[in-house]
Amino acid sequence: MSTAAQSDVLIVGAGLSGLAAAVALSGVGAQVALLERKPYVGGRAYSYPHPALAEVIDSQHVLLGCCTNLIDLCKLSGADRHIRWYDRITFLEPEQAGRATRRSDIGPSWLPAPGHSSLSFLGASMLSLADKSRIALGLLEFMRGYPQSDDEPFSAWLKRTKQTARAIRHFWEPVIVGALNDSFERCSTRYAGQVFHESFLKSAEGGRLGIPTQPMSEFYESVARLAEQQGTALHLRTSIDRLEQADGLWQAIASDGSLFRAPQLLLALPFEQTARLLQTLPEKNDAVTRVVSNMEQFSHAPITTIHLWFDREITPLDHAAFLDTRIQWVFNKTRIRRDEPEAEKGPGQYLELVISGSFAELQQTREQIVSSALEELGRFFPAAREAQVLKAGILKEARATFSVTPGLDRFRPSVDVAGNGLYLAGDWTRTGWPSTMEGAVRSGRLAADAIAKAKGNAAGFLTPDLPASGLMRISASR
Ligand SMILES: Cc1cc2nc3c(=O)[nH]c(=O)nc-3n(C[C@H](O)[C@H](O)[C@H](O)COP(=O)(O)OP(=O)(O)OC[C@H]3O[C@@H](n4cnc5c(N)ncnc54)[C@H](O)[C@@H]3O)c2cc1C
Repeated sequence: MSTAAQSDVLIVGAGLSGLAAAVALSGVGAQVALLERKPYVGGRAYSYPHPALAEVIDSQHVLLGCCTNLIDLCKLSGADRHIRWYDRITFLEPEQAGRATRRSDIGPSWLPAPGHSSLSFLGASMLSLADKSRIALGLLEFMRGYPQSDDEPFSAWLKRTKQTARAIRHFWEPVIVGALNDSFERCSTRYAGQVFHESFLKSAEGGRLGIPTQPMSEFYESVARLAEQQGTALHLRTSIDRLEQADGLWQAIASDGSLFRAPQLLLALPFEQTARLLQTLPEKNDAVTRVVSNMEQFSHAPITTIHLWFDREITPLDHAAFLDTRIQWVFNKTRIRRDEPEAEKGPGQYLELVISGSFAELQQTREQIVSSALEELGRFFPAAREAQVLKAGILKEARATFSVTPGLDRFRPSVDVAGNGLYLAGDWTRTGWPSTMEGAVRSGRLAADAIAKAKGNAAGFLTPDLPASGLMRISASR
């Protein structure tokens, strides 16, 4: 067994939670060793060169203006230069019985919050007046916030507030399935309400859509560089197999036998991998045993992305939400990556289609998924029917997110629950956020706070939430 230098803090996992903790702690002078089993950072927000396609592909990740901690981390590292911001979201209905594709754009106007999007909402052809009035009544419930308890399924809320079938299909579903990545039965009203309160009502800024314009691993490379400049020792291709405690220090043992030691250990991993590593501990205290047993309450939800290269332009839009189809979203990667010279690939176009909560697609073959996606795409963009598909690929992420199932909050551990210098981070810990990059960054910063506090420093790494704007300031102050 080879011995590596001892550090102040060991962080296992260089996803966003681990990166955020490493930047925070090395920024205040702690010696941090960051251990990552993959050859790149970013965790689930990754990209890689696909050998058969000869392209760098990823599952497009997006953020919102209300993701204050993620945005702050991007600003600190300079990654924010590669985020393109959009104020409006385009919703497309497919062509139907002789009617062409219909477009509704939702975005802010001069009106103050919470009414900033109401003009575009009132003009949206995807909803009838009856749908809109039900939606408006429903949104009133989230004006002052969202429920503290996460016991109610969002399906029950939709029934209770008498939402119409089309309001569900054309408004609640695209937003909630897109944001929380599971069915209404398996999402709590608390997190659905949070999405609408933070991104639709509280301020126009909170609802802005940010799209990284670089492949995801490149995008987060600058965060890793910042951590390294501050002194973090990043060890890629280092898979931790086992944990031990000896002489008052934590020991993380990698698959190649390397040994890393520190008085404080942060596991910044998804829940199932946290459970696997905790189970290797020769002795477990009650808190650790409870955390491991609570993991049984967590479940994953998949995302499938379809990557299509056409011989011509299919759409001038950068992105759009699709209605009445399995596909939630289309990203025009040729336009999104337009700042990168290597992305200039002649007159053709590269589109990425996203299917959230893609449980059905997990069982389907690549050919089935691609052919049904092409058929659906033609209903939105007729040019897709005439175009030649030059190449196509899919990415199935079976463990893309954890589902915020009703009642799950009581099983989400706080970052310092384990005691003895052992800390947890990851989007699934008790962040008050669903499975998102913002949740992951918050968890890393919360863990960094707890670690700094244990050393007698009160660091306060969290960025405050966006303030309420317009008339929402009145309801926020009541
Ligand atoms: C397809 C897809 C689309 C998504 N879209 C969005 C989106 O649009 N917006 C959004 O906000 N979120 C999105 N998410 C969710 C987001 O990616 C995650 O919530 C977030 O990245 C989780 O970060 P994390 O640090 O908690 O965990 P992870 O990213 O899983 O990081 C954990 C890290 O630990 C490493 N690791 C695991 N085991 C070991 C070990 N034994 N030793 C060493 N290292 C180990 C892993 O390789 C990984 O790098 C999406 C996720 C997927 C998969």
